[in-house]
Amino acid sequence: MKDKIHVVDVTPRDGLQNEPNPIPTKDKLALIEKLVAAGIKHIQATSFVHPKWVPQLADAEAVAAQLDKFPGVEFSALIPNLKGYERAVAAGIRHLEFVIAVSDTFNRKNLNRSMTESIELLNQVSRRAEQDGVVLRSGFSTCFHCPFEGRISSRSLLSAVRAAREQGSWRVALCDTDGMAFPDQVSEALALIQEELKIPTNELALHFHDTYGRALANTLAGLEAGIREFDSTSAGLGGCPYCPGASGNVATEDLVAFLDGMGYESGIHLDRLLDAAEFASHFSSRPYQGHVLRAKRPAACGGIPTSVGATVS
Ligand SMILES: [Zn+2]
Repeated sequence: MKDKIHVVDVTPRDGLQNEPNPIPTKDKLALIEKLVAAGIKHIQATSFVHPKWVPQLADAEAVAAQLDKFPGVEFSALIPNLKGYERAVAAGIRHLEFVIAVSDTFNRKNLNRSMTESIELLNQVSRRAEQDGVVLRSGFSTCFHCPFEGRISSRSLLSAVRAAREQGSWRVALCDTDGMAFPDQVSEALALIQEELKIPTNELALHFHDTYGRALANTLAGLEAGIREFDSTSAGLGGCPYCPGASGNVATEDLVAFLDGMGYESGIHLDRLLDAAEFASHFSSRPYQGHVLRAKRPAACGGIPTSVGATVS
């Protein structure tokens, strides 16, 4: 058995935030229950952003209030600013992801401030987190490509990560927001960051969207660089409001099947995870985005089971 991998399921946040139909709080909690039953130990439960911007996550406090039903699971939430920090901590969340974009244009559109202002804000959030004993993760969007600025160079990513690490030695998540990264780009960026900043591999995480079907290839590049923490969403839910056509994250069931097949230890029960994926797929306004649920349970994806003995090519 190879190393242990931390799979961070971000469905309740990244997966659901773009869905056009309202999803009741009780259904979000039912999904979390199924993820926990499958053995997922890290879940991004919600985001403390202004409800006007992300109405799907307006129930952040109501979701957070129920999370102590799941002992032994690390729940995190995304925050864009100090107000979000205060709401999250008041709601009892102790692991927070501060969101920031490598692309200045994306940062301005998504967060309404420059990248430099975001770094200053990260400094303030860091000081508060240190005082409060809260654990932060800096979540960088558009690490490899931006829908407005195009390809992001590894040098630009390096300088953004360096600026964030100067505010505190928090973990850093590198997010491929529109799913445009290639494995060689991921390898190059990780090598540069590790060489220049000496960040231990267990302080880096990867977050791939699967728009062009490259998420697992990019995951392999991350594994080969020593990264052991990956984000994903059940049934591949999600998208990006600024990236027309961008699909969701790599599906958690695809990621886990991939890791299992290569001998990595995820600690996750794939068949129970498919129960979660089947449930999650009901929330999606789009057809099923992953692969493994369709392969193992075609009827759940609107397909017809292949009859045994059929001749296929
Ligand atoms: Zn994402």
